[in-house]
Amino acid sequence: MTKHSWVYNVLTAEPVLRKLLQKMGVEIRWRCRAVDVEKEGNRITRVAVRVDRRKKEWVEGDAFIDTTGSAGGMKACTRYVGGCAMCPWMQCPTFGDRVNITGKAGATTVNMHQKDGTPGIKYNGLYLYKESLSQEWKDKLAESHQIFVPFRGIVDWDIDPEWSWGTRGQDGNDGMGHPADPETSWRVAPDVGRFRLLDRGIFAGGAGPSPLKLEQLRQVPGFENVVVAGPVGGMNLWSLGHDLVFCENNLRVPPLGNLFTAGSKAHMVDIQPGINSGYLAGFNAVRVAVGKEPVEFPLTTVSGDIIAFTQKFLRDSAKTEYGGPTTFVSAHAGHYLRHLKDAGFFPDNPDKCKQRIADAGMTDFFEQRVV
Ligand SMILES: Cc1cc2nc3c(=O)[nH]c(=O)nc-3n(C[C@H](O)[C@H](O)[C@H](O)COP(=O)(O)OP(=O)(O)OC[C@H]3O[C@@H](n4cnc5c(N)ncnc54)[C@H](O)[C@@H]3O)c2cc1C
Repeated sequence: MTKHSWVYNVLTAEPVLRKLLQKMGVEIRWRCRAVDVEKEGNRITRVAVRVDRRKKEWVEGDAFIDTTGSAGGMKACTRYVGGCAMCPWMQCPTFGDRVNITGKAGATTVNMHQKDGTPGIKYNGLYLYKESLSQEWKDKLAESHQIFVPFRGIVDWDIDPEWSWGTRGQDGNDGMGHPADPETSWRVAPDVGRFRLLDRGIFAGGAGPSPLKLEQLRQVPGFENVVVAGPVGGMNLWSLGHDLVFCENNLRVPPLGNLFTAGSKAHMVDIQPGINSGYLAGFNAVRVAVGKEPVEFPLTTVSGDIIAFTQKFLRDSAKTEYGGPTTFVSAHAGHYLRHLKDAGFFPDNPDKCKQRIADAGMTDFFEQRVV
C-alpha cells in the first residue's frame, strides 16, 4: 500500500477479538470505568470501577495493567482543543472523563504540550462515511484501498498554526508543512493540498486534516454529499498525550511492583506497538502475579527497540521547557521511522523479520505457559 503501512479493518477486528477473549474464558467487565486504586506498600491491591453513577465496585488482583491510552476526555478536549470531537472511539459522554490511574497509584506521568504550553496536543483526523463519497471515489477506494483527493485551489483553509504541531513535528519538518524526509512522512498537512483517505470499512479516512467546514468540504469534487463520521462536530480535534507513563523495558511501572502498562499510555502510538506491547504486559503481569521476574523483548527486535526508544524519548523530553514530548513515537512516521531505517530494521519484509525474531530466540515465545 505504501512502503511502511498496511491497511486493515479495525472495525471487523474488534468483534473477533471479543469472541476470542470469551472463548479463552476471560471475564470481561463491560460498561465500567476504573476510577480509583488502593495499594499496600508498592503493590496495588485493588482498583475501584464505577458501574453506574452511584455504584462503585472494587476489583482485587495480583497484578494490574493500565492501558487507558492518552486521549483527552471531554474536559481536556473542550478546554484545550476547542471542543469534543465526538469520536466514536472514546465514548466519554457515556463513560466519563479520563482518570490517571497510574498517577493515582503514585507513579510519575507527563503530558504532551502544545507550543504555548497547553497540556495535550491537538491531533487531527478526518473520517467520512464511505457511502457518502461519489461513485468514482468509492470505486477507486475499493480498487486501491487508498485515495488522494486534491483540494488545492478548490477550498480555502484557515490554518491554525497549533493544530498540527504534534504531527508536523512527527514529520521532522520545519513547521511549515514540508516533510524533511518524504520516505518517512505521510501526514496530510494543509500545505500538501490533498486528502489521503484509507479504506476503513464503513469509513474512508485517517489521520490528516480536520478543521475544515462541511460547507467547504462539500465543494471538493466527489465530496458533494459527504457526511463526516469523525470528528462528528466537523471542526474539532482530538486532545492527545495526557498522563503518559514512565516504565521499565519490561513495561512494569515503577515504583509499583505489580503495575504494567502498554500502548499509547506509554506513548507508543498506533495499533501495532499497542498489540505487541500488550502481549508483553499481559505476559509479565501473569509472571509477576505468580512470583516470577518480568522479561524484556530483546533490543534486537523492533518491539524491544520501540519500548526502549520511547522511554528514553519520554525521559529526555520531560527535561525540556515543555516538561514532556511535543510529538509522538509512531512506527510509521517521523523520527521513530527514521530511527528504524538508521538501525537497519526498515525496510523490512516477513522473511527478514522472522529471521530477526529467530536470532533473538523469540520464535513462538508467547506459546509458552507461565502458569
Ligand atoms: C484520529 C486518529 C487517527 C489514528 N489513525 C491511526 C492509524 O491510521 N493507524 C494506527 O495504527 N493508529 C492510528 N491512530 C492511533 C491509534 O488509534 C492509537 O495509538 C491506539 O488506538 C492506542 O491504543 P491503546 O489501546 O493504547 O489506547 P486507546 O485506543 O486510547 O484505548 C484506551 C481505552 O481505555 C478506555 N479507558 C480510558 N480510561 C478508562 C478508565 N478509567 N476505565 C476503563 N477504561 C478506560 C478508553 O475508553 C479506550 O477504550 C489514530 C489515532 C487517532 C486519534
